Amino acid sequence: MSDCIFCKIANGEIPSATLFQDDDFRVILDVGPASKGHTLILPKSHAANIYELDDELAGKAFILAKKIARKLSEGLKCDGMNIIQNNGQSAGQTVFHFHMHLIPRYEGQDIGIEWHHAELKQEDKEEIMKLFS
Ligand code: 5GP
Ligand code: ZN
Repeated sequence: MSDCIFCKIANGEIPSATLFQDDDFRVILDVGPASKGHTLILPKSHAANIYELDDELAGKAFILAKKIARKLSEGLKCDGMNIIQNNGQSAGQTVFHFHMHLIPRYEGQDIGIEWHHAELKQEDKEEIMKLFS
């Protein structure tokens, strides 16, 4: 994708604070961090979102996320870690090249990752369970 900024970053055409890279991924610091150590995992090949992502890469991405999260957590001595991945504008995606966010969390620092809990409606439960039956 010639106009995709994360393709350019992942493939080294645009410089980034790179923590790790291999044949498939580049791991960079987010330029607008939600917390100290906010990191992004970018595949080097373009997929707009998780639905387009190759199965093998999807598996590798999660294994890599585990490795990077552990290293960040030990190095930064954070108290927790959110691993978040947005698909679609309504879900907060702003760059349409698949990426995973690793967001270190620190006790007492509210960075606003939260949602309001509703009650599970019977009709919704039935509709959704039918999708998998
Ligand atoms: P999304 O909202 O799509 O899940 O996440 C996009 C993330 O990419 C945001 O956290 C944003 O700060 C980060 N970002 C956008 N442009 C750049 C860039 O040019 N360089 C880096 N390092 N991060 C970027
Ligand atoms: Zn791309």
